[in-house]
Amino acid sequence: MKIKNGYSYKKNGWLYISVKGRPKERGFAYGYYCANDFKEIQKMLNYYIFESYGHTWKYLTKKINEDFKTITKVQYSELYEEMEGIAQGCIAGGCQTTIDEIIAWNFYCSIPYWFSFISDSHIGKEGGGKSDTPQSYIHIAQKNHANDKCSAFMAVGDWTKDGKIIVAHNSFTDYIDGQYSNVILDITPTNGYRIMMQTSPCWIWSGTDFFITSAGIIGTETTIGGFQPYEKKLPIGYRIRMAMQYASTIDGYVSFLVNGNSGDYANSWMIADTKTNEIARLELGLKYHSVDRTKNGYLIGFNAPYDPRIRIVEVNNSGFYDIRRHQGARRVRLVQLMEKYKGILTIETAKKILADHYDVYLKKNNNPGSRTVCSHYDLDAREYMSQADRPVPYAPHGAVDGIVCDSNLANNMSFVGRFGNSCGTPFKKDKYCKENIQFSNICYFLKDRPSQPWTKFQVHNFNKKVFDKYLNTTIKNKKDRIVDDIKRQGVVPLEIKLEEKHNLFTPNHDDNISRKYYSDENIHYIPNNNIVSSKHASTTKISISSRTYKKNKLIQKEKKIVNTRKNRK
Ligand SMILES: [Zn+2]
Repeated sequence: MKIKNGYSYKKNGWLYISVKGRPKERGFAYGYYCANDFKEIQKMLNYYIFESYGHTWKYLTKKINEDFKTITKVQYSELYEEMEGIAQGCIAGGCQTTIDEIIAWNFYCSIPYWFSFISDSHIGKEGGGKSDTPQSYIHIAQKNHANDKCSAFMAVGDWTKDGKIIVAHNSFTDYIDGQYSNVILDITPTNGYRIMMQTSPCWIWSGTDFFITSAGIIGTETTIGGFQPYEKKLPIGYRIRMAMQYASTIDGYVSFLVNGNSGDYANSWMIADTKTNEIARLELGLKYHSVDRTKNGYLIGFNAPYDPRIRIVEVNNSGFYDIRRHQGARRVRLVQLMEKYKGILTIETAKKILADHYDVYLKKNNNPGSRTVCSHYDLDAREYMSQADRPVPYAPHGAVDGIVCDSNLANNMSFVGRFGNSCGTPFKKDKYCKENIQFSNICYFLKDRPSQPWTKFQVHNFNKKVFDKYLNTTIKNKKDRIVDDIKRQGVVPLEIKLEEKHNLFTPNHDDNISRKYYSDENIHYIPNNNIVSSKHASTTKISISSRTYKKNKLIQKEKKIVNTRKNRK
């Protein structure tokens, strides 16, 4: 189906949406195509948020907007306009919503972190929190593993068949919300790089996360389980979306993600640069972060950080060494699989890895459950839980997808995805609900996910010549590109100083992988507190200091350069 500024079709469980143009126009087209799905999501949120937080979706929407609407408007005006467009497009498509609801929905992954900050309950994030906090079972379902996302790896050099980059990722999530992450969104913004990503309806960032950009970047992440600290700065959804649109280097991504870091949705971010054949993993805590990078090796993601400062100081009960748990088990299994497929990693072998069901704890070949790379909590009795507040038996939770990509696919703005379980096992709602009456309330919202084939997606109207020309303009002096990336940020650039180089032997860090540790003592983040906001009854007045104004001018100038480059193609 085609409307102005947009194009969309359904295929094998996915909803492909391509939008282009100025923020409001592309937002409108996106919202229009999402209207039907967003109606369902609203019903789910009205139930699930109340059940999980004891507050209504309406109340949280209000609180989120009190905290973030002004920041969005002032520091992320482009994203704000896009979300305004989304709200209008949804309404045009028959779904009643507001800009406030779209802002709140885009904050969804940050809610568990922010909520513990605004409430007294301190209910933790993905296995974190205090075990003496009263929790309903749904709290256990929501808070303690809602963010148990995902398995991932990146490999390059001797590890892959052609020496170029391979990336693979699957998302574990609660089925009640994860079943909506079936959107493949292709955005061609007027400014910045073109993006194709997996996402959920009406999200302006990926959330799951898997994306490629016309800067030759492939990106993904796995969350850091049990992460505790939070500081109200800039939401992760905005930081990563700006990186996707405006960064062309690994350093640029690191800078966008670290700058204004709130600790929300704390992840091991994995960024591959096909231009330099380099892969990197940013373990992003709040006070601490570290960066691993290599042109010959592999990096894996399994929901626990290698960086001991994050793992010990910022995370509660990481599961790093516990193979009864999904973190420890997949840390072992992914290494085994990397060794097994060393030198023969291709798109096909990457699919096999994502579908792997080997249980390292029980040494069983085909035992799909919480510990396997392809995750199936819904089949797991959890009799080997190491902690009582960990995910409950047979939770409606697990892998809902699989996506693989390599340098060649990325340089054709393409990747291969499977919706439903990575292994293709269908999820049958009626059968599951009959066997698990304890989840009958959630069952009301669950949908079947039949077995689907792997499906290749490419951006709409792809033109290789145009793409290559565009990419070539991006491949200039790497130092210049890093400076460009940093200048394009909507906030004051960071200065990062190397704190310590890691020379100790760790099992996953050979000589080919460089690791650098950073901490916030060496990060000079300057909050954009030049923005003065004063509320008068029904109006909010915003004034910006001349310094911010000059800075914004600089950013606009930078954007203009990107734009001119793009128009030249
Ligand atoms: Zn499976």
